[in-house]
Amino acid sequence: MEIYLDNCATTRVCPEAAAACMEAMTEEYGNPSSLHRKGLSAEKIMHAARKSIAGLLGCEPECIIFTGGATDSNNIAIQGGVSARKRQGKTIVTSAVEHPSVGETVSALEAQGYTVKRVKPRPDGNFAAEDFVDAVDDDTVLLTFMMVNNELGTILPYDRIIPAVRRKYPGLLIHMDGVQGFTKLPLNVKRLDLDLFSFSGHKLYAPKGIGGLYIKKGIRVSPVEYGGGQERGIRSGTQSVPLIAAMGQALELCRRDSSAILKNYRERNSQLRALLTRIPQAVINSPENGCPHLLNISIPGIPSEILLHALEEQEIYVSSGSACAKGALSETLQAYGLPPERIRSALRISFSRETTAEEIERFADVLEQTVNRLSKVIQK
Ligand code: PMP
Repeated sequence: MEIYLDNCATTRVCPEAAAACMEAMTEEYGNPSSLHRKGLSAEKIMHAARKSIAGLLGCEPECIIFTGGATDSNNIAIQGGVSARKRQGKTIVTSAVEHPSVGETVSALEAQGYTVKRVKPRPDGNFAAEDFVDAVDDDTVLLTFMMVNNELGTILPYDRIIPAVRRKYPGLLIHMDGVQGFTKLPLNVKRLDLDLFSFSGHKLYAPKGIGGLYIKKGIRVSPVEYGGGQERGIRSGTQSVPLIAAMGQALELCRRDSSAILKNYRERNSQLRALLTRIPQAVINSPENGCPHLLNISIPGIPSEILLHALEEQEIYVSSGSACAKGALSETLQAYGLPPERIRSALRISFSRETTAEEIERFADVLEQTVNRLSKVIQK
């Protein structure tokens, strides 16, 4: 039995999204910019997807542009956002636990002369809204931070950060990387008064290579690439109608089945937390109040990669929570204050809407056996 527990990395495409993709590839294959009927049908498919995603975000369809994924959305939001505000300031405020698509983008701007302030979590692992307010000043041109951390599942208190910053700096450009929280937590971009919001399809049962960016009406974002002017000139290039159709369908199902999906994440999460008590060495790194679709744990003494590959032999797929870049310890987990040994042995287990109780039971059994076996070998 194959057990896939790496859904934060990517998910299996749902059959409905695959069918929508296939239809757009083989039947409605026109270029949405073409003026004839075939183009119009493709444009209609694209519009339907935009409309349904807009419903989920609480905005008008025109406010969404399609991109090649969240890395693309984050780059456009950050680079395009600051580039449209060249004279407004030279400081960017972000968190110390961002995904590289935000972290590396702001670092590249830092190398070009911007000042970057990286807000850290408090010792209890939570972020405080006032720390973001304190980091912002009159020179700040952009505030960019993630909705949910991809390694631990920590929820950044966006519903407090944004209003608190807005009160003091009403005109500040605010971007949120919503990849790990979208459809899993309450969100209404208009009510939240967010300027830019990135999301990705492949974490939500759509194919890889498609995502979107919400841009509030009136907010200027310069293109980072130039071309035929598609997606309001902000993201040129012929739109991938098949991937857009698939993402529209997948997200529609996330909306329709939202309570059942969330219930499944919560149940699998608490089931696994309970089962882990059988493994005395296991430590849970994710906070109790985190997003329930993932659980980060450590088995101090057993390096993540060794455990990951031992589980793989039993057809169980998880992620090394340390997300080691070139053997370095995860900067995110360091920023959260985890001791090096816990970082070296971190595993990220992430559930899908389909993950069953039986799968979690088997995972916990195999983990227990594997930990017992490896502990003996490693200690020798
Ligand atoms: N931001 C976060 C928080 C992520 O988890 C990911 C995916 N690992 C991305 C951005 C990048 O998304 P994509 O793969 O669509 O480029």
